[in-house]
Amino acid sequence: MHIIMLDSDTDFEGWRKAARRLALNDVKPSDVTWTVRGEAELFSPSGANDLPDAPHATFNVPATFVELARAAILHQSGERFALLYRLLWRLRGHHDLADDPDIAKANAMARAVYREMDRMIAQVRFREIGREKAHYVAWFEPEHHIVELAAPFFASRFSDMPWSILTPDVCAHWDGHAISITSGIDKSEVPSEDRLEETWRRHYSSLFNPARLKVTEAPQAYWRNLPEDSIIRPLLEDAMRMTSGAFIASKAAKPQAPQKPQDTPMARKHAHDTIATLRAEAADCRACPLWKDATQTVFGQGPQSATLMLVGEQPGDKEDLAGKPFVGPAGLMLDRALEEAGIGRTKVYITNAVKHFKFVPRGKIRLHQKPSTPEIRACRQWYERELAAIKPELVVALGATAAQGVLGKITPINKNRGRLIDHDGTKVLVTVHPSYLLRLPDEEAKAKEYQRFVDDLKIAASLLRRAAHAA
Ligand code: SF4
Repeated sequence: MHIIMLDSDTDFEGWRKAARRLALNDVKPSDVTWTVRGEAELFSPSGANDLPDAPHATFNVPATFVELARAAILHQSGERFALLYRLLWRLRGHHDLADDPDIAKANAMARAVYREMDRMIAQVRFREIGREKAHYVAWFEPEHHIVELAAPFFASRFSDMPWSILTPDVCAHWDGHAISITSGIDKSEVPSEDRLEETWRRHYSSLFNPARLKVTEAPQAYWRNLPEDSIIRPLLEDAMRMTSGAFIASKAAKPQAPQKPQDTPMARKHAHDTIATLRAEAADCRACPLWKDATQTVFGQGPQSATLMLVGEQPGDKEDLAGKPFVGPAGLMLDRALEEAGIGRTKVYITNAVKHFKFVPRGKIRLHQKPSTPEIRACRQWYERELAAIKPELVVALGATAAQGVLGKITPINKNRGRLIDHDGTKVLVTVHPSYLLRLPDEEAKAKEYQRFVDDLKIAASLLRRAAHAA
């Protein structure tokens, strides 16, 4: 019997290395016991490292399995390590796992993990503590091991405030530069009241609309994570008194289904567009004066089946000459960041909000100029038609011009980055443009901002994984 001890509940890399070595040495799943450090001090581990290297043996598993395992391993079930190793063992034998009951279990685990992450994003409320130096603290009791997965989202969303998310399992901290993880704490150690608390309760009372409270989707067990928990019940009771207890059935407004990109008038009008026909049509566009000085229309690139659409500002000098988006230094930086975030560029459709290069000549150099609002507006038709043709799960707008083109209005980046925006049924994230990172003069600031950019793309990657699992 091999007893494998992993460093923590979320030690995916440890599981992956051990599982690979066990499988290469033909160790059957029934001969392996998986434990986590601190849980099984009674056992003396005999790790996979004791096994020979098996340097000539090899096998590959689909990337989708790796993604599934990465999410399912965060489930609270003690069975997950063994279940995933059973699946790996069968995959190694090239078995078709489509009808495998363990695959159904692993998928259910991954879905539960993503649902829990959604809840955490929706329910974490920070309290301000500290008299001299403000620090923001939130208490949350997750059902699964999702704190490390969710921490980059909060770091990106609340990048300029130091915070800690405390849980019984582990705690995540952000100091404005980096995330750190420490062991969990007891709820009694959490600061319970602060000056934000009362403000939030007053704000919540003024917003409270019983018709919008989905009692079945917000189990009362979760209320304890919210500062408004002490007032939800009195507010509900008041509402029920006023409406003879019938408000939920009679007044609950039926939520309108969000309009999907394919349902918009633009989408219906251009239902037969493909990226190829659009590119050909846009080559002769004269809807604004930018075509006059530019070499050519630089249309979007990527598969029509892409689930992620990246929208930049406008082509630069190199893109104008090549006729392709993001081929210059900013494109190289984008490639690197996408790779670090786990997003393959070949699966992404990349385009610009404005399709012609705007510049002023300075000797032999063509100096980039920011497109004007009328130019962004004139070019928006192409973005809308690309969107309707591709129907991506998510659009990421890179920089202020892209955000204006995608959302149809001026949208400050710092206030909105990392936040999922629903725009006419399309999910949108905004972040900075990679050329902004290239322009930063200070190397330290550049490295820090680059990491924030990668973290934003990781949020996109995580949303896409959730969409794939939901599908
Ligand atoms: S920038 Fe856009 S709207 Fe203006 S000419 Fe080029 S493709 Fe047409």
